[in-house]
This record gives sequence, C-alpha cells and structure tokens, in this order.
Amino acid sequence: MSSTWHILGAGSLGSLWACRLAQAGKAVRLILRDPARLHAYEAAGGLSLVHNGQAQRHAIPAETADAGTPIHRLLVACKAYDAPAAVAQLAPRLARNAELVLLQNGLGSQDEVASQVPHARCIFASSTEGAFREADWQVNFAGHGFNWLGDPANPLPPDWLDDLTDAGIPHQWTPDILTRLWRKLALNCAINPLTVLHACRNGGLAEHHCEVATLCAELAELLQHCGQPEAATDLQVEVERVIQATAANYSSMYQDVRQGRRTEIHYLLGHACRVAARHGRHLAHLERLHRRLVEHLNARGLPSD
Ligand code: NAP
Repeated sequence: MSSTWHILGAGSLGSLWACRLAQAGKAVRLILRDPARLHAYEAAGGLSLVHNGQAQRHAIPAETADAGTPIHRLLVACKAYDAPAAVAQLAPRLARNAELVLLQNGLGSQDEVASQVPHARCIFASSTEGAFREADWQVNFAGHGFNWLGDPANPLPPDWLDDLTDAGIPHQWTPDILTRLWRKLALNCAINPLTVLHACRNGGLAEHHCEVATLCAELAELLQHCGQPEAATDLQVEVERVIQATAANYSSMYQDVRQGRRTEIHYLLGHACRVAARHGRHLAHLERLHRRLVEHLNARGLPSD
C-alpha cells in the first residue's frame, strides 16, 4: 500500500531512513521539533546522506507537529527519552489504524509510546545500522547493519515491507522482536556502562574479564526470569566476541557522556534493574553498576533518567 512515510526526528537514523525511502521514490515527510528547526532545515535545502565519501542531497518536505494532515504511517526516530512526549503531540493527527515504527534502542519507551496512542499499531524495531550526524541535516552512514521488525501483539507483517526492500533498507519481520531487543539490551548493559566507568574503548574491557563475566551471569539470570530465556543463550560468549570485534571502538554511551549528551540509561541498564526488582530478583552487581553510573552522570551534570 502506498502511504506517506512521516518521519519524526531528522537525526541520524531518521535521516538515514528518510533519504533511502525518498531515493526509492516513496512519499516522505519529516516532522521537525519546532518552527525554528523547520526554518533552519528549509534554509539548508534538504538532508544530505554521506556514504562512501559521497554526499547526496534530498529535498524532502518537512513540517512541524501542528500541521493538520492525518498521519497513517509514522517512523519514530527520536531518542527513547523524547519519543513518548513527541508521539503524544502527534496523537490527534493519527488516522484510525495508523501504524508506528519505533526505532528506539533499549526497552520501556515502546510501551510508554503505545500507551499514548492506544488506537494505533506499534511495531518495534531493533537496528544494528550505524549512522552519525556530521552536522545538522547531514548524516554519515557506514553502510552495514540490519533491522529486525516485529509486533509483540500481532505476528502478521504489515503490507509496506516492500517499501523497505525497494529502498535497500535491510530488514526482516520477526515474531521474536522482544527477544532481539532484550538480547541487545543485555549486550549493552554488559559493555557500555563499564566503558564509561573505566573510561576505555570496548577492547579495554578485556582487562575487566571477571567484572564482565559476573554481569553476564546476572543478566542471564534476569532474562531467564523475565520470560526471555532464548536471549540468555551464550550471552557471555557473545559479549566477549563483541568486545573483541569492536575493540577499537568507543561505545555509544561513552561517546554520549564524553560529549556531554544525555544517555538512554533509563531504557537500558535502568530498565534491566526495574524489571529485576519487579520480578523480586536481587542482582547485586547490576544494581551497583547502575548506582555507579548514575553517580558518574550526576557528577557531570547529566540526567540519569
Ligand atoms: P539523534 O541523532 O539524536 O536524532 C534524534 C532526533 O530526534 C533529533 O534530530 C531531534 O531533533 C529529534 N527530536 C527529538 N524530539 C523531537 C520532537 N518532539 N519533534 C521532532 N523531532 C524531535 O538520535 P539517533 O542516533 O538517530 O537515535 C535515535 C534512536 O535510534 C535512539 O534510540 C538510538 O539509540 C537508536 N539507534 C541509533 C543508531 C545510530 O547509529 N544512530 C543505531 C541503532 C539505534 P533536534 O535535531 O532538533 O534535536
């Protein structure tokens, strides 16, 4: 079915999806934060996608949340902590049977968004694609990665997956999207906070093998108890593989803290700790890691929620 792709948030991932869909001839509209951002975007003349050193500009139309037209399909590409409020603003514009695709990392924000729009279908995504903003309205794409899509409430795929195929967006529909999101969350909890606290690249965690192993054991215990045993399979093996394979990289959380940006801790380690408490599990190392990270962020004047 051909319907406009409204894209909420023209940051790294939002711009990446918008440019590829527009390039494939799909109807795309960006929804920007406020009139000032819309004005700045229009002055720039569009979004630029840089891939293999080549920049291509796409003059994608844009609007703010208060444009009056109905929305049938919405790609939510804000950070997890911005998504619920940003979607709530758009709720009056959502058509009956509207579909939302939620690109947020971690868990918790998807349910917060869904509660704002009970009449809409919320499709969860887990993306391993990597993009970063070089400047406003200019995004750099490494060119690899994958997107898993699924709806925990409804295993039937939507009818627009062909749009993604046409746009060259690598994807697969999965009935197990929660397992994928939990697995990614667990990997993140075992690696990212420690890279912040030890101020190191991912590879630096090879020197903290015992700390990593203890966290993996607690995370696996949590996954077993919250109905995600598959996400616990060989967790430590994969964590160690990721540490080795990305040894030269700084984690996204490390980069956020370094650059004084808010992290998504509330939807990553924070979510793991909240779910553990809900299930009556006392996971001492995970809780201590959370406390240390919150203190670290607070000491730098960064939000810890
Ligand atoms: P980002 O570059 O910071 O972009 C977020 C965008 O949302 C910003 O452009 C921001 O606008 C916009 N925004 C926030 N509130 C808004 C509102 N009320 N109305 C309109 N726009 C609003 O973030 P990102 O890196 O694309 O990440 C988005 C999500 O994808 C995160 O959960 C992240 O963890 C996940 N993810 C990212 C990557 C990646 O490679 N980047 C990979 C996998 C998953 P302003 O520009 O005006 O601030």
